Amino acid sequence: MNTNITLRNYKLDSPTYIFYKNQHSNQSLSYVEEKLKLYSTLDKKTMSMSYALSLLDDFIDPSDPDVNIPNSTHSYQTAERIRKVRPNDYELQIVGLIHDIGKVLFKFGEPNYSVVGDTYVVGCQFPKSIVYYETLQDNPDFNNPQLNTKLGIYSEKCGLENLKISFGHDEYLYLVLKNNTNHFLPEKYWNIIRFHSLYPWHTGNSYREFMTSENEILLKEVLDFNQYDLYSKEDTDFILTPKIKEYYENLLQKFFPEELKW
Ligand code: FE
Ligand code: FE
Repeated sequence: MNTNITLRNYKLDSPTYIFYKNQHSNQSLSYVEEKLKLYSTLDKKTMSMSYALSLLDDFIDPSDPDVNIPNSTHSYQTAERIRKVRPNDYELQIVGLIHDIGKVLFKFGEPNYSVVGDTYVVGCQFPKSIVYYETLQDNPDFNNPQLNTKLGIYSEKCGLENLKISFGHDEYLYLVLKNNTNHFLPEKYWNIIRFHSLYPWHTGNSYREFMTSENEILLKEVLDFNQYDLYSKEDTDFILTPKIKEYYENLLQKFFPEELKW
């Protein structure tokens, strides 16, 4: 383990900057509504969770300044970090393993900015806690007086689950988990997945005005999960052994014994 690495260090005019400039100029309220409509139908593919994970073998996240390994490796690293600390918490281990599987969106031809990156709420004012905030000036909603207010189209304490979030792998896997009933992952974990990239909320302290008391619990759960997701990237000497693979193959069979609609 290398503990000298600085994570989430975002530089100007880096590939990461260009990525976010694209995300911020495209992901508006109407863009998100269109994507939700397109992917709620789950008629793109039928496949097992295990097969979906294998699809991440050749995907490297272009938005992440800390990761240049295939995303499937990052999935096993995150799960293994959790297993070390919580050997009997199979639910959280499986969440670690699958949390980024929504990135299969790139197989459906989605541009990177529709798949990865930190997310933010659309339909209300953009808080300054969003990474590369200045590039949001190119967002079609930025100068819309109805949307560019503190609450926008929402009301106070309406609940995080009722906000529209920029579309990507979080929301997509949430849709898959919610709309397939033939699996055994409890609902509480769908929400950890759904909000894991919402950095302006869980780390930037924004969007508090929309939170319910249940959302306070969710915030703790997301932050708890985030430490395993983020710091697994320091495990640069990680080797995926057949034994580790077999352990998670069994776990996947337990929670997701059947194929799912995607
Ligand atoms: Fe992620
Ligand atoms: Fe991740």
